[in-house]
Amino acid sequence: MPHFICVTCGVQYAETETPPAHCLICEDERQYVNAAGQQWTTLDVVRKEHHNVIHNVEPGLHSVKSEPRFAIGQTAHLVQTPHGNVLWDCITLIDDATVDALQKLGGVSAVAISHPHFYSCSVEWSYAFGGIPVYVHAADRQWMMRPEATIQFWEGETRSLFDGLTLIRCGGHFEGSSVLHWAAGAGGKGAILTGDTVYVVQDTRYVTFMRSYPNSIPLNATTVRQIVTALEPFAFDRVYAAFGNTVQTDGKAAVQRSAHRYIQAITG
Ligand SMILES: [Zn+2]
Ligand SMILES: [Zn+2]
Repeated sequence: MPHFICVTCGVQYAETETPPAHCLICEDERQYVNAAGQQWTTLDVVRKEHHNVIHNVEPGLHSVKSEPRFAIGQTAHLVQTPHGNVLWDCITLIDDATVDALQKLGGVSAVAISHPHFYSCSVEWSYAFGGIPVYVHAADRQWMMRPEATIQFWEGETRSLFDGLTLIRCGGHFEGSSVLHWAAGAGGKGAILTGDTVYVVQDTRYVTFMRSYPNSIPLNATTVRQIVTALEPFAFDRVYAAFGNTVQTDGKAAVQRSAHRYIQAITG
């Protein structure tokens, strides 16, 4: 039986004979159902119509993205360390060419995902690399549409992986929204990879924090402060967000001044 994939969000569902009636992730107020109505595809079709492009972003970091654009245009990142590589966030398309290319970069030891909009084909990615763990925060368990044994629901506020890689639960966008702290990133000054838990805006000296990006639903001041507090113990100079923008330097101060500006704006 096929594992259907939602065309709008790119998330793959548990196997069913016929396509599911609804995509729960798209029907949630943080996403949207395509104007053409709910549509489904399969990984075989996505493999025929798309390919992945891998770019070196900085030493030890590569981006992985599908072309032509698929779903909401998710980007994944491969973070390389001496003890193994982590795929941060996930995309729908996984194919032989991608596996070969990433094996040449040292393979993938684990997948870790910021929030449900990146759950995509994470189980397929796990199997493609020998059944590696997929870390997602337990607070978002209800949104995992293919909850197989390879999914590791982690709990608490932080989870250390290896080699200076730490998952930090910030909350906000989703209850379990997380970022990956990479201590060796940005030439040793530290970097965070944020998905859209922390979203880098067009003026890349700033970030923002939203309950919904496509539907422009803000967060309250308490929640924004909670995100800043979660990041407080960690040093980082650079902020890599999900959709292409990067705070190149002074990232921690950028998060703090952005939170201040945001709270001013919503509290008057
Ligand atoms: Zn969907
Ligand atoms: Zn999102």
